[in-house]
Amino acid sequence: MKPSPTHRCTEAPQAGGPCTPGGEYQALFDATDEGFCIIRMLFDAEGQPADGVFLRANPSFEHQSGLRDVIGRHMSALPLAGDEEHWLQVFGTVARSGQSIHMSDRSEPLGRWFDVHAFRIGEPGQALVAVRFSDITHRRRIEERLGSVRRTKTVGVLFWGEGFRLVEVNDGFQEMSGYARAEAVGLTWQQLTPPEFHAVSRSAVQQVMKHGETAPYEKQYIRKDGSRWWGLFAARRVGDEVVEFVLDVTERKRAEEALRQADRHKDEFLATLAHELRNPLAPIRNGLQILRLTLPREAEAPLRTVGMMDRQLDHLVRLVDDLLDIARIGAGKVRIERQVVSLRDVLARSVEATQAAIDARRHRLDVELPPQECHVEGDLDRLAQVFSNLLSNAAKYTPPGGRIRLEFEAQPGEALVGVSDTGIGIPKEQQERVFELFSQVSDHRRHAEGGLGIGLSLVHSLVKLHGGSVSVESAGPGQGSRFCVRLPRVAAPGQAAGGGVEAPRAGGACRILIADDNADAAETLAMLFAAGGHEVATACDGVEAIARVKEFQPEIAFLDIGMPVMGGLEAARQIRGLPAGDRVRLVALTGWGQPADRERTREAGFDLHLVKPLTLEALQDALAQMRSARKGGP
Ligand code: ADP
Repeated sequence: MKPSPTHRCTEAPQAGGPCTPGGEYQALFDATDEGFCIIRMLFDAEGQPADGVFLRANPSFEHQSGLRDVIGRHMSALPLAGDEEHWLQVFGTVARSGQSIHMSDRSEPLGRWFDVHAFRIGEPGQALVAVRFSDITHRRRIEERLGSVRRTKTVGVLFWGEGFRLVEVNDGFQEMSGYARAEAVGLTWQQLTPPEFHAVSRSAVQQVMKHGETAPYEKQYIRKDGSRWWGLFAARRVGDEVVEFVLDVTERKRAEEALRQADRHKDEFLATLAHELRNPLAPIRNGLQILRLTLPREAEAPLRTVGMMDRQLDHLVRLVDDLLDIARIGAGKVRIERQVVSLRDVLARSVEATQAAIDARRHRLDVELPPQECHVEGDLDRLAQVFSNLLSNAAKYTPPGGRIRLEFEAQPGEALVGVSDTGIGIPKEQQERVFELFSQVSDHRRHAEGGLGIGLSLVHSLVKLHGGSVSVESAGPGQGSRFCVRLPRVAAPGQAAGGGVEAPRAGGACRILIADDNADAAETLAMLFAAGGHEVATACDGVEAIARVKEFQPEIAFLDIGMPVMGGLEAARQIRGLPAGDRVRLVALTGWGQPADRERTREAGFDLHLVKPLTLEALQDALAQMRSARKGGP
């Protein structure tokens, strides 16, 4: 017999000597998972197949068939009980006719399903039959189990075979993908997956190979017509194959995207609204300052009214600022100025900011701080805002004369700050929700003092930005509440974080230009400066501002950034281009205070950037700064 170049040298000595090594297909057949063997068929006197002798078998033969040491043995001697007649007939027909067969069949004694290819090799008289087969029991079992799932349209089922090619798909997958079964079989995952999801698919393949299954994951697939669909996939290895289940979640993904879009629109709307609300607040604030400065001391009732309006305005400014913060956090635009800060400093600031509200309701505030220092990394102002919000809520939601407690504990790696009160408490089922935007406990509305349900959402977002968490506990209505903030601790810094430095106050008269298209804002500012003894001119747009600079030659010019005809940025650039245009100190007035906004005004030639609404203190500081710069300047 001629040794076949297509199988490995596992041969009975009596079957004709060693096979030729190094045949070009030898490595392939050594490596293949399929079973491969050569049988010489024996016929009786009537020419009927009587038996067969195994001449060769590759290493996978034993694994695939479950039969050991078959070389040189007769089929009749092997545990094929009951089945040998069937195979004798099949292989006998192949040996005699020279016709190949391909069939899937079940071996009852072995309890396995085989996919069998048998074909004649050598000369017809040698009666040699080569048999290539693989165990498909797993697949058959799955297919049997799948039963009606095969027809189901709601779940796609995919079978991946060697080289991660599709070997079977159900009706559901055909519907989702637009591929008929025959078109899908043989496709690879790469052909079905858009390039940006290759990494996801590759990791799923690795998971299934390593752990036998994947966690459910989502990715896009490409339909036959090139369009895309979203699937929720989960795969599991079964024998040599991988079964994958998929749900078409395209509609859900679309709905999610629409929600995200709506959420973005809401954030944009809030940002614009808050920004627009800020503009009228500036002139109102300035108007109140003027009234306060100009009203005679004995005008008690008007002064009290001004005081009340001031407090209401503070409240309005706080609400607008909170709204703006929420919108900025939603848009990922809040920047935390990170520095190592002492928790004591943070808490001292928060207490300072809320003491008046606590006193107004005659609460007792107990502050319990441990002896050792404790530092966290973050933004002093923003962290103080967190605890101020919690303290002012405690004051608001506790009937007058209650107790509020502020304490912190320095644990290894973590600082724990607790704010508790003896107030109206929070029902258990509402506790999770209080951190959501605009959420208020319905029975609490009358205590909310005009709150919008923003404060705790802000607390939650700010704490998260600092790498911490916040939680609430309350035994229920009337039983008080306790909010607990956890923040990562850091080592003490070389030097402590300092507070604000008092700017030197201005003295002496000064020529000041104010340019703002909001006539009320310009007018009230002008009156404020005039009341301070300064000489003031106004302009309502950039072009007019430039003309005023030329004729009035101000020492300091306050320019609004958003003006019609010509905005403050362009006006500043042109002023800087005038002869002696660098002698005037330029102050930008704007509702935007992000680092990028400040960078833009600096580039346009401004010396200072003020964010509206302006306070009298901010104006005085700005004036003092600009005057000292003027003295030291060119
Ligand atoms: P609001 O402006 O309504 O105070 P917050 O976001 O600060 O908004 O709080 C959300 C809701 O959580 C409040 O409306 C209130 O129902 C509840 N809440 C907050 N703090 C307390 C507290 N200390 N005691 C009881 N309820 C509280």
